[in-house]
Amino acid sequence: MLKKTLAIVLTFFVALTLCCYAGARRNIMVCDWCGKRIASNASFLRSEDKNFCSEKCFNQYAESLLPVCDVCGKRFKQGFTSNGRNYCSRACLETTFKECANCHRREPAGMILGDDIFLCDYCSQLPACSCCQMPLDKFSKEVGDGRTLCRECAKEAIFSQTEAEKIMASLRQELADKYKLGTNHTIKFELCTKADLKKESSGDGERELGLFIFNRKTLTLFNYAIRNRETYRILILKGLPPDFFRSVGAHELAHDWMEENLPHIDEPEIREGFSEYISWLYSKSEHLDRIPWRMEHNTDPIYGDGFRKIRDMMGKARTAAEWKEILLQAYPAPQNGK
Ligand SMILES: [Zn+2]
Ligand SMILES: [Zn+2]
Ligand SMILES: [Zn+2]
Ligand SMILES: [Zn+2]
Ligand SMILES: [Zn+2]
Repeated sequence: MLKKTLAIVLTFFVALTLCCYAGARRNIMVCDWCGKRIASNASFLRSEDKNFCSEKCFNQYAESLLPVCDVCGKRFKQGFTSNGRNYCSRACLETTFKECANCHRREPAGMILGDDIFLCDYCSQLPACSCCQMPLDKFSKEVGDGRTLCRECAKEAIFSQTEAEKIMASLRQELADKYKLGTNHTIKFELCTKADLKKESSGDGERELGLFIFNRKTLTLFNYAIRNRETYRILILKGLPPDFFRSVGAHELAHDWMEENLPHIDEPEIREGFSEYISWLYSKSEHLDRIPWRMEHNTDPIYGDGFRKIRDMMGKARTAAEWKEILLQAYPAPQNGK
């Protein structure tokens, strides 16, 4: 969003015509500023339909017509007007500009990142972090698959398979504790690159930060099916900061639960919407602040619309059993199984 504030130099003229009368005959007259009577033989000043006993009264009156600065309250002759408000100086006008989160200058135009991060026009054109969109600097870090992280995201980004596995195991436990959402089978977890994700994804792999893959192989012996072998895998991009990593992890674990509990639902909007919803609930409860906002404002027809649809459907339900019941009512399982 580009927000422009238009500053116009405003010059204020008091249009006054001065007239001096001395000793003319006239009716009783009072000063329109101080209210004193003007003697019949005294000189006075006149402006349009007003009379003044002295130059001092006239000057005070003229000043009272000047605009007031909306910031410091001073009256001024030359200043700025913007969005119907008056400013006596550039300094007062600048107090109304947002401070750029990157260069810290106060600027009238730029863009808003997330719910309230302002970047000025200049900074919003700089190469940006693949994760949070903040401008990159010399402390930025290349992930090695085309992505670059800003210094903040790079600080705690997860690059170690062991660390990632640990987080996934505790995340699985947390979802089971919080929502009774979980499965017991083994899930093979892999920290991967963007290229790995693209290769495995059924979509274009551009939007995804992670992937859940379910595979069923039927083992046969002399043409007889003897056993099904199911494999469950979760892939998550390396180089994600912990809050992103955990929100993606929660999303993929929700797919895993759905695969086991509601395998007949195959509408992408419902599958992705449900996973986003679980990730949203979890991110909110863990105060992973920048995550829920993104989901709420995601305009993607599958992820964004799907999330909002599921959120509306679920209302106050907060356990896996309740979610399953609500989804089964809307999407009944076929009678003969699937
Ligand atoms: Zn007066
Ligand atoms: Zn001012
Ligand atoms: Zn800036
Ligand atoms: Zn970043
Ligand atoms: Zn998904």
